[in-house]
Amino acid sequence: MAINTVLGKCNSKDLGTTLIHEHLAAGFPGWELDNRGFNRKTEIGKAVDRLKEIQDLGIQSFVDPCPMELGRDPEFAAEAAEKSGMRIIIATGLYNDAFGIPQHFRMLGVDDIADVYIQEITEGIGKTGVKAGIIKTATGGIPGMSVDTAITAQEEKCLRAAARAHKKTGTPILCHNSETSPFGRQTLDIFESEGVNFQHVLIGHACGVGDMRYYFDILNRGAWLGFDRFGIEPIAPDKMRLASLIGLLAVGFDRIMLSHDAVGCWLGRPFPAIQKMMESSPNSHYAHLSRNIIPQMRKSGVSDEKIRLLMVDNPRAYFGD
Ligand SMILES: [Zn+2]
Repeated sequence: MAINTVLGKCNSKDLGTTLIHEHLAAGFPGWELDNRGFNRKTEIGKAVDRLKEIQDLGIQSFVDPCPMELGRDPEFAAEAAEKSGMRIIIATGLYNDAFGIPQHFRMLGVDDIADVYIQEITEGIGKTGVKAGIIKTATGGIPGMSVDTAITAQEEKCLRAAARAHKKTGTPILCHNSETSPFGRQTLDIFESEGVNFQHVLIGHACGVGDMRYYFDILNRGAWLGFDRFGIEPIAPDKMRLASLIGLLAVGFDRIMLSHDAVGCWLGRPFPAIQKMMESSPNSHYAHLSRNIIPQMRKSGVSDEKIRLLMVDNPRAYFGD
């Protein structure tokens, strides 16, 4: 299947070793009103260095599912891709109720939002000419920063819009969930009612949930699990993520993709909640899987063949052959 990268189309067969969920940069809505500290040239340079570092470790594709209102910057991504040679895919789609969904979109209906997503996939984002290659959704907030009891009406609207944009374009859907109130099952229920094929749905941030019943429910319905926050220790220790992952692989569940959800650059001035989380997460960077986690998986008996499946074949199948 043809995929939109920030520099044009590629084929899913060409993705190679893929990090499915990372961020070049991110900021919460309003950061742009407080961005004196941001030096674009310096940050591009740092991003290119980080991308080259993981290229040397064998990473060939980098998916940045930054929601459209959290500092997504298509031109920044295109420049970083051009200068580093990394294949980069960015997203269309809105974030969750607690931290995102600007007022304009709160007032739009499902089909109008779907139309915006479809435009960003087929025509490009704004006037940049850069097209989105994945659809982001989000339910629940961030552990310790919000209390989430159910998928909200605004989130459900965005989930349905994502489903409709997916059905029109074939572009896969990547779902943010909060580890402390994960709504993966309910997300799938909504997608099911929209007729979405779960082959193209990734239920993200599952590794910090640590609940086998949750994993089994999602995997048995044919969706993918994102073990995509390795290194963010305050949310869940890597040892717990690894215990779940190795256990799932041992009993034959392998529809899983790996990543870090590492943010290269936080936009706007630093704020305490994120600063604290980052300070206690020294391994939250793009190279942690290659340098530390994959070697630990090998030591625990996970074969190279399985690692290739998680890093290469699963992303390809998720985007579609
Ligand atoms: Zn993320």
